[in-house]
Amino acid sequence: RYVWLHDKMIKEEDAHLPFFDRGYYFGDGVYEVIRIYSGKPFMLTAHWKRLERSASEINIEMTVTKQAFSDIIFQLKEKNEIHNGYVYFQMTRGIEERQHLYSNDLSPVITAFAKESDIPLDKQKHGVSLWAMEDIRWLRCDIKTIHLLANVMAKNTAFTHGAEEALLHRGNTVTEGASTNIFLVKNGVIYTHPADNYILNGITRQVVIELAKENRFPLKETPFSLIDISENDEMFITSTTLEIVPVTCIRGSIEVTLQPGIVTRKLQAAFQAREK
Ligand code: PMP
Repeated sequence: RYVWLHDKMIKEEDAHLPFFDRGYYFGDGVYEVIRIYSGKPFMLTAHWKRLERSASEINIEMTVTKQAFSDIIFQLKEKNEIHNGYVYFQMTRGIEERQHLYSNDLSPVITAFAKESDIPLDKQKHGVSLWAMEDIRWLRCDIKTIHLLANVMAKNTAFTHGAEEALLHRGNTVTEGASTNIFLVKNGVIYTHPADNYILNGITRQVVIELAKENRFPLKETPFSLIDISENDEMFITSTTLEIVPVTCIRGSIEVTLQPGIVTRKLQAAFQAREK
């Protein structure tokens, strides 16, 4: 496999990273995951904008132009012959002997790789279960940083309990999943947490909001509570790699069984129909 390191594509086995990369010691960096559909990157501009924003929020200077970002993705997917899959792109603050205080003249370290990955049709059809647990992450979940320990622990706790994904809540308020956004459909209205500091503004989330508008489904970016979730509701999760996946069961802090519903199915169909 060929991967990207600094400014060029090299063989994975030749990719050696600097010992004092701040990404390694502090999780001091940002990333993006971009879907490739039939050899074409999906929502590239939105990913670029989110990367730029994440970097800017933690004072990492963007050294990659949108064109360079796009070229890296293009070259990786071409060289690795990715048809349907994704590109992972990471930018850390740079290399400097470990100290909390960072110098302002560091050069960010870029690493990226491409992977073939099928659309999870089975999950999209049959749904997944969630493990509901307290969201213990920091208060800047809007920044897509590589510091993901709380997400890693949440996802693994969910798996330990036989669930596919975590449902994170702060008190009773549902925020998002460990690596997905969460939507509730109640009495025909779609609810999802607003894009503030408590969640990552998912690109798939943004697409779903657009699709809901286009299809005149009422959608409110309003937080919903654990107590709002009932058996008659629909729930689904979204992410770049999953697209739109129904939730059929929640356990943990609450216990609810759900069915994939008509709104979820219509949004899935609209997502498939969207030009990629
Ligand atoms: N929330 C979190 C915490 C995530 O890590 C992700 C995926 N990286 C998402 C939501 C979904 O975002 P996207 O649709 O851009 O993949």
